[in-house]
Amino acid sequence: MLAVMCGGCFCASVFSCNRGNAEAKEEVKTAEENKIYHIFFHSLILDEEKAFKSKKSEGYNYWMTTRSEFNAILVGLYKNDFVLVDIESLVSFTKDGRTVIHSASLPKGKKPLVISFDDVNYYEYMKNDGFASRLCVDALGRVYAAVKTGNSEIKDYEGDHIPILETFIQNHPDFSWNGGRGVLAVTGYEGLLGYRNPVEAKAVCDALKKKGYKFASHSYTHTQKFKDNSITVERLTEELDRWENDIGSVCGSTQIFISPFGMHLKENDRRFKLLLSRGYRIYCPVDSKMPTYYGAGFMIQGRMSLDGLTLLKYYNRVQTNLGLEASLITSSNRPPIN
Ligand SMILES: [Zn+2]
Repeated sequence: MLAVMCGGCFCASVFSCNRGNAEAKEEVKTAEENKIYHIFFHSLILDEEKAFKSKKSEGYNYWMTTRSEFNAILVGLYKNDFVLVDIESLVSFTKDGRTVIHSASLPKGKKPLVISFDDVNYYEYMKNDGFASRLCVDALGRVYAAVKTGNSEIKDYEGDHIPILETFIQNHPDFSWNGGRGVLAVTGYEGLLGYRNPVEAKAVCDALKKKGYKFASHSYTHTQKFKDNSITVERLTEELDRWENDIGSVCGSTQIFISPFGMHLKENDRRFKLLLSRGYRIYCPVDSKMPTYYGAGFMIQGRMSLDGLTLLKYYNRVQTNLGLEASLITSSNRPPIN
């Protein structure tokens, strides 16, 4: 049977048998088998020396992942039977406001993994600190990152998480379930994908969507008001309007909202109701336990970061949640975190 939610809210990790498709005989799955994993990354540090010696070293060390770490994480996830799924394949919503939970029907032993990439904007503050400058697509439709080295700029096909992921899937097609790709959470205040004029990112957006990537609103300004939960309904409305006008008009409208600073909202919060009324039915805060909740007309999915803070300080989570040994992943160039 289809699992249909008409009201209330529940967590996918606590029920056992009603995630399924229209089969009379339903396979009973354990809570663990029903679990959906959701991890996220910021843009990758390509030049560790530059990043960790820059003035913003502390922030980079906390919130960013290096290219070598990302490569090691992908290999580890693949070995541990994770498969990349499209977040929008997990659930659908009917016109009358019901939620239909889809069974991923993965091959036995495989675990569904959603990956999101936050702030794929290549902000000005990251310039000259060892990151890519923007995402591009070549004449063959392959994604690469433009990376500044000295006075020149190179096409780096390993120049950020998305081009690396594409190469990985090419070499390991079974890592992507039914063509599943990642979610790009983007703001708008400095353009899109590294293009200060968002319209210039259109061809890259189209190429990414064609490959299966999804875009999410990450608000327009990423204001600190999301950090202390003080954002008002009025300000959130403004954020949504600006994002939809400047960014959604280029990358397409979306039903996914990935909250800045991982802000949580309860389902009866007026701001959550605003998001729903604007069509944002998939809400992703930060929660290292990666719970998935379904309610009437929405899904809330917590995400775990795989950044320096997690690798250096909360390394147990990496082992417990993903079966990966953080010390084998973490770059030795990272300064210690207290
Ligand atoms: Zn962010």
